[in-house]
Amino acid sequence: MYREREYDVVVAGAGPAGTHTALRLGRLGWRVALIDRCEFPRKKPCGEFLSPACLPLLEEVGLLEDVLASGAARVRGMDIVTSGHRARGDYRSMGTYSPPRAGGIGIRREVLDHQAVEAARTEPNITVLLGWRVSGPVSGPEGRTIGLSVIDPEGKRVLLRSRFVVGADGLHSRVARGLGWTGKYPGPARFAIVARFEGVDRRKEAEVHIVGGNYFAACPIDDGLFTANLVVDGNRLPKGSSELEPFFQHHLQEAPLLAERLAGAHLSDPLLTCGPLRSENRRCTGPGAALVGDACGFVDPLTGEGLYFAMRGASMLASALDRALADPAREPSALRRYDRDRRRDFAPRYALARLLQRGLQRPGVPDRVVGALERIPALCDLLLGLTGDYLPARGLLSPGVWRSAIQHERPAPRNLFRSLPDGQ
Ligand SMILES: Cc1cc2nc3c(=O)[nH]c(=O)nc-3n(C[C@H](O)[C@H](O)[C@H](O)COP(=O)(O)OP(=O)(O)OC[C@H]3O[C@@H](n4cnc5c(N)ncnc54)[C@H](O)[C@@H]3O)c2cc1C
Repeated sequence: MYREREYDVVVAGAGPAGTHTALRLGRLGWRVALIDRCEFPRKKPCGEFLSPACLPLLEEVGLLEDVLASGAARVRGMDIVTSGHRARGDYRSMGTYSPPRAGGIGIRREVLDHQAVEAARTEPNITVLLGWRVSGPVSGPEGRTIGLSVIDPEGKRVLLRSRFVVGADGLHSRVARGLGWTGKYPGPARFAIVARFEGVDRRKEAEVHIVGGNYFAACPIDDGLFTANLVVDGNRLPKGSSELEPFFQHHLQEAPLLAERLAGAHLSDPLLTCGPLRSENRRCTGPGAALVGDACGFVDPLTGEGLYFAMRGASMLASALDRALADPAREPSALRRYDRDRRRDFAPRYALARLLQRGLQRPGVPDRVVGALERIPALCDLLLGLTGDYLPARGLLSPGVWRSAIQHERPAPRNLFRSLPDGQ
């Protein structure tokens, strides 16, 4: 026997995609239920790097000040390292494109996500239900999604009826599965081991260290901490949790510059694992339902853009739903527009992430590419502009962008790392 509640919109998942969607819709006057199976603050395996374009999106929902005040680390650029080369790029203006607020930031997800949930709690139109688990979407007689079936913290089944259901429940979304929208992802099954260290020298750069077909992505975060993820093929991941740390340490030796930086540091938290890091959906919208963030599909986190996709997607979806809720006859066109906006903004970024991912798997390619980025730093800045989400792919057609990338005067090269060991 169902208990029932009724809202304009039910949002499944209180990560960045869900909270930003809820905050935007709640402030437009719609009655929103935001549900998550976890209590907050909760940990989420992540590189914890927010690309420059995330900052204005945080500002739009009123979260930026608190995030910065909680000590988020500023990230001005990125070092990309292979066994033979190291390239350095900066987040900087090129032509008419500038990184908002001069760069990205690093912050623990338990801080970032908790602040967003707390902001949602203070909104009179938003009901936050934590410790509630989604079972699946519920369809009406004509196939329209009419709500979400959920299990409350006492284990009772509840039907959250709504005019619209938003699946923001992340990688391997239950809402997407329940709607029958999941497809097959052609890429390899990758897994991540996420480590957090204290006692690492502070720098203002994120880092990617490519080792064989695998990589470490690392970033300074708040509270003087440093996050380092190892992303590897799933079939190489050890089975027992006691083997994770030796496995991580073993791979670290293949990235000597990172190993050197972490030499005097120690783990501040237990290692987390996560994967398989792949999913692709056949669609993201339908009558009465839409997906946002990782629930739409997931690309390997190599370029560190997932949080941007989540927050920017939430902004696009909230506008579409506002139109659809105000005038139900406009729902199909509002959802088509959401699909179109996502494709226009995200498809080139997904394509670049997949291209880099494929290159990573080809022996010799990462070294040649990073060698080129090292020789021509302007190319590295352009790559950072693209993956920092403030330089659109069409910006590469602008001569002004190339001119300012190439003519940029650089400070004398700093000794980013001590020299590579002999033969590396
Ligand atoms: C190893 C790794 C490193 C990454 N590094 C970066 C990085 O440095 N920068 C970057 O921008 N992106 C990074 N990403 C990607 C980024 O973490 C995601 O893109 C981002 O978290 C997506 O936000 P979301 O709100 O869509 O999903 P999530 O943050 O995953 O939130 C989904 C929420 O849904 C809830 N949920 C799930 N199932 C249910 C259920 N059945 N019932 C109720 N609630 C449910 C979960 O508890 C969760 O709170 C990384 C990802 C991984 C795996």
